[in-house]
Amino acid sequence: MQNHLIDRRGLLRAGLVVGGLLAATTSAGTAVHAQSALPAAGTAPEQRPATPDAAWARLREGNRRWVADTSTHPHQDAARRAEVAQKQDPFAVVFSCIDSRVAPELVFDTGLGDLFVVRTAGQTIDPLVTGSAEYGPAELGTPLVVVLGHQRCGAVTAAAESLHDHKKLPGELNTIASSLRSAYKRSGGDVDKMIRINTIDVVKLLKKDTLFAPRIAKGQLKVIGAYYSIDTGEVTRLV
Ligand SMILES: [Zn+2]
Repeated sequence: MQNHLIDRRGLLRAGLVVGGLLAATTSAGTAVHAQSALPAAGTAPEQRPATPDAAWARLREGNRRWVADTSTHPHQDAARRAEVAQKQDPFAVVFSCIDSRVAPELVFDTGLGDLFVVRTAGQTIDPLVTGSAEYGPAELGTPLVVVLGHQRCGAVTAAAESLHDHKKLPGELNTIASSLRSAYKRSGGDVDKMIRINTIDVVKLLKKDTLFAPRIAKGQLKVIGAYYSIDTGEVTRLV
């Protein structure tokens, strides 16, 4: 058996064959999948950020790549799937809106096992949502929580219109509008201001959380607020 004796040239040939197959499927519109199956630059194993500041720095680096259209799509392959199959240890919780244009793993150029993601319309919060945000820091020592508001938030816009016109939204949509009432009143009707006020309100609320406050005092956890620009892709820290 010569299976163990395949030389570099043989491997190269094998690679070319595989490459040929991939190229053959490219015309069928699977080019993106073929590319994503290859290891991307900059995906070498890295230490999971252990401190709040290191975690924020990692998110900022990823966001800079996203803005510059140089995303490396780390941790999005079968090897990573196997690595985190039995155990997860994400370095941040991102609490963002449900908006389809604000996907945290894309915005921060992260992958599988990197983030806990909690999403509600307008990142509105209640005890159920708080419980989901608490899980990572309380159980796994996740060092960072980011509350992420965003430009042109449809949920906040709809809530502002409903509150302005004194017209109830149907179903539980009105619960969302109600929870944004305080931010609306302090925004003077400016939706973008309302988005930022609500984001900061949620940060303040989470900082007082009984599971978070002791960790924050010890420097083990930070809760920060940020704003995502739909136009540029940039995340800017608010608080
Ligand atoms: Zn939104």
